[in-house]
Amino acid sequence: MGGRDTDIVLLDENGIRCDGRKVNETRKVTIKAGVLKNANGSAYIEFGDNKILAGVFGPRDVHPKHMANTDTGILRCRYHMSPFSVTERKNPAPSRREIEISKVIKEALEPAVILDQFPRTAVDVFIEILQADGGSRCAALDAASVALADAGIPMRDMVCACAAGKVADTVVLDVNNEEDQAGQADMPVGYMPNLDKVTLIQLDGVLTPEEYKKCVETAIDGCKQVYEIQKKALTDKFFANGEQ
Ligand code: ADP
Repeated sequence: MGGRDTDIVLLDENGIRCDGRKVNETRKVTIKAGVLKNANGSAYIEFGDNKILAGVFGPRDVHPKHMANTDTGILRCRYHMSPFSVTERKNPAPSRREIEISKVIKEALEPAVILDQFPRTAVDVFIEILQADGGSRCAALDAASVALADAGIPMRDMVCACAAGKVADTVVLDVNNEEDQAGQADMPVGYMPNLDKVTLIQLDGVLTPEEYKKCVETAIDGCKQVYEIQKKALTDKFFANGEQ
């Protein structure tokens, strides 16, 4: 973050970013629900050049059995990058970064899912990054939330996610890979739009208290835009013949 010398113009004199976006614009987001036949629920997301699949299984028996909770079902998440998801071959073994992201995604989804009706069971969320381009944890969270809803898991709210950051001393929405590498800060945010609650917030970089507040507000604005696309993915699947 911020340490790499680069010739890239992150923000030009007209306020246009390196990929042609305005400061408050997300990349193009498309989501399709129900893409995997063998999973109970699934979703595919393209978030800019991120391409991500999420598959949900359960509620089902917990293995190993000692992980089972007699009071409630448990949520487990695995975020995994395919070897071909980045320019250099990625070692398929779970990295420290993937273990961290799996944990934060699980913790970001937990406030939304209601698993106390399913004691001794597990709901497994498998996330496969097919192509990564910065902001993959937010895009993964967006797909996972749609996949959970597609699986019929009871939920208090959807979880939608989008990052904001600081690039060329300016707060921008949805930091891309170049901005993440060469910019000053990246803040992924997960948000429940109906309950107005934040379930994930991380910060890589340095912000003033004012910039921090602006980043949170900007990211939440992006989350609300993603929420509309998540809802459309689900209505497109469940009301394919036009009924509402
Ligand atoms: P996020 O994808 O949530 O922004 P990071 O900030 O850790 O997470 O990573 C930013 C980007 O760096 C990723 O989206 C990906 O494009 C790239 N990246 C991550 N891990 C690797 C890796 N092992 N090899 C090459 N690029 C990577």
